Amino acid sequence: MDTIVRFAPSPTGRLHVGNIRTALINWLFAHKSGGKFMLRLDDTDQARSTEEFADGIREDLRWLGLDWDLEARQSDRFDRYDAMVAKLKADGRLYPCYETMEELDRRRKRKLARGLPPIYDRSGLREDDKERAAHEAEGRKPHWRFLMHNFDGEPDNIVETKIGWDDLVRGTQQVDLGSLSDPILVRADGSYLYTLPSVVDDIDFAISDVIRGEDHVANTAAQIQLFEALGGDIPKFGHHNLLIGADGQALSKRLGDLSISSFREDGLESLAVVSHAATIGTSDPVRPFHSLIDIEDQFSFSKLSRSPARFDPQELRALNGKLLHETVYAEVEARLDARLEGRSKPEVEAFWLAVRGNIERFGDVDMWNGIVWGAIEPVIEDGEFIARAAELLPDEPYDEMSWGVWTAAVKKETGAKGKALFRPLRLALTGMEFGPELKLLLPLIGREKAHARLSGEKA
Ligand code: GLU
Repeated sequence: MDTIVRFAPSPTGRLHVGNIRTALINWLFAHKSGGKFMLRLDDTDQARSTEEFADGIREDLRWLGLDWDLEARQSDRFDRYDAMVAKLKADGRLYPCYETMEELDRRRKRKLARGLPPIYDRSGLREDDKERAAHEAEGRKPHWRFLMHNFDGEPDNIVETKIGWDDLVRGTQQVDLGSLSDPILVRADGSYLYTLPSVVDDIDFAISDVIRGEDHVANTAAQIQLFEALGGDIPKFGHHNLLIGADGQALSKRLGDLSISSFREDGLESLAVVSHAATIGTSDPVRPFHSLIDIEDQFSFSKLSRSPARFDPQELRALNGKLLHETVYAEVEARLDARLEGRSKPEVEAFWLAVRGNIERFGDVDMWNGIVWGAIEPVIEDGEFIARAAELLPDEPYDEMSWGVWTAAVKKETGAKGKALFRPLRLALTGMEFGPELKLLLPLIGREKAHARLSGEKA
């Protein structure tokens, strides 16, 4: 069986870090096994799904480099789901239930109060045509439940029914269908819940491996019976651990500050986002990668931990800085050229090597561009010392040695050393307390500008 996996978001919001982790794990799995990666838009909830969110999902995946080989949307496939519903009805596997959600809720609570498992008692299944007609006459519409095969003889006689699979991430799994309610597949208004369309699609698109978050483990057992009921091949399943927020709660798709688009707008590198997604919640340390291929090389299900991982936006930002600090010039050449127009290639390269260790976001290069080549207000605390240093500035050409030559001369002349020597020079040359190594900045600033700044001029 060829490998085909799918990432199946609902276009009811923007993607967040948790979602793209699922997307990335699927993408990596497909690429590692030479298979295909499918984007499936689970948009059966027509009221909440929008075209804008669908576009947003595509944009986010593209930005992250997670390209897909095929795409489908569930709203194009209602005929197919209707046909499968007809089949399940004909086979006696889908039965109408007329309880309202409030009635079900009341029954559930009563069961819980009596210490019983709150599972649906299949009363809808026991109703005859006359009773059903009476409900209809009252204007009620049924929702439809999938009859699970978890009984012996009569459906009332529910017995322990272990459904097992060899999970790609969690190893041997077993869920007792006897402890679950028959899932609702179709709502009273005729709309589909996620379960049936998902299984029908997984069959029709020959999905070989269903890889998703571990919040779907219980669904998987019922879905396996649905695959069987629809006559489809049962794929392999893998359920990865989930991310939780700083408060320990599940990440919600509506948390705007954790959305991929907010990271992009914040100026984070897409590679930092995918590096973070690839290493958080694994046995590997969170670290930067410089390409998806590098991530692919080290990816393995066996590294995923079994417990949820806490997402910390601060950690992602730090990782972004770390990635930039070790990024070679060739990787950012085009982006730098766009920001540093008119500068020669050797200048731009030297600039990058000087400043990359001092930036957290790529956009920070603008600030250093301004400090190196723009006009700054020098900060001079001890005018006499700085005036002496200005006189001692060596002649050009400058290279990385020039700073050492100059400061040795200033030290000899003034007796200043260590912080007392370097801090005032940095303040005068850059207006800043901290920054890139001055032996790298001085050749970029050049003698004329350096001299002007040391003389207190805005230059
Ligand atoms: N739309 C479903 C979700 O986002 C897909 C789950 C699945 O992968 O089967 O939860």
